[in-house]
Amino acid sequence: MRYAILSDIHSNLAAFQAVLLDAGDRGGFDEIWCLGDVVGYGPDPVECIRLLRQYPHICIAGNHDWAAIDKVDTSDFNPDAAAAAHWTSGQLGPEEVEYLETLPLSLQRDDCTLVHGSPREPIWEYVLSVSTAAANFACFDTSFCLIGHSHVPMVFHLGLDGVCRQGKLPGELPLRQQEGRLIINCGGVGQPRDGDPRASYAILDTGPGIVHHFRVEYDIHATQRKMIGVGLPHRLIDRLSLGW
Ligand code: ZN
Repeated sequence: MRYAILSDIHSNLAAFQAVLLDAGDRGGFDEIWCLGDVVGYGPDPVECIRLLRQYPHICIAGNHDWAAIDKVDTSDFNPDAAAAAHWTSGQLGPEEVEYLETLPLSLQRDDCTLVHGSPREPIWEYVLSVSTAAANFACFDTSFCLIGHSHVPMVFHLGLDGVCRQGKLPGELPLRQQEGRLIINCGGVGQPRDGDPRASYAILDTGPGIVHHFRVEYDIHATQRKMIGVGLPHRLIDRLSLGW
C-alpha cells in the first residue's frame, strides 16, 4: 500500500492541490494519512476539508482544527493565530464543523501510530528536541510514530542501546533497516517552517517499507492574495514566502 502522509495543510488549497498533483505524478497513493491542522492560518478552510474528503483518507485532530470549532481556548495561541482561528470558525458550515468534531486524537495503522503533536500530548506538544522525543517513545507501542505540528521535517531514532538521536528526514527513509524505533515528522503542507517555503509531504510505501520525502513548489502568491483579500494577518501572509 502507498499512503500519502500529509500534515498541517492549514487551509492552503494551492499547496494541498500541488501536493496531490505531485503525489499523483509519482505513482499515486491508496489513502491519505492526514496528521491534523487541516484548517487555521490560511484562506481556504472549507475547500481544504472538502478536497480531503474526496479521497480515501484517515485524519486526526490538530490544535487548529479544535480551535476552529471552539474545542480549545485560543488564549494559548499567539494573536495572529487566534485571529485566523476566529476567522476560520466563521467560514465553516455545519458539515465542516461536524467533520472536525469527529476527528480522533490518535490512530494506529500497520505498525504506525499517528498523532498531531506527540503521543504524550497529541494536541499541544511539539517534538523538536531529543529529550522530548526520548520521553515520547514510552508513550506509544508501535515501531513507528508519525507526527506533525512543528511543520519541520525531521526524524528521531531510538536505538536498541536506548539512545535517542535526531536527524534530518532524508529523501528516502528505509524502515526495515532500522534497528529500533522512529518518530517521523514529514513537515507541513500549508505552512513549512524549516526555511524552505515549498510544501513538504511524504509517501509511505509499505511494500519495500520506505518513506519517500518530497518538497513541492506551489503558487504561494495565489494563497497570499486570497489571504489579503479576506483580511488575514500580514505576518501570516509574509511567512509563507520565507518558510518559517
Ligand atoms: Zn500546524
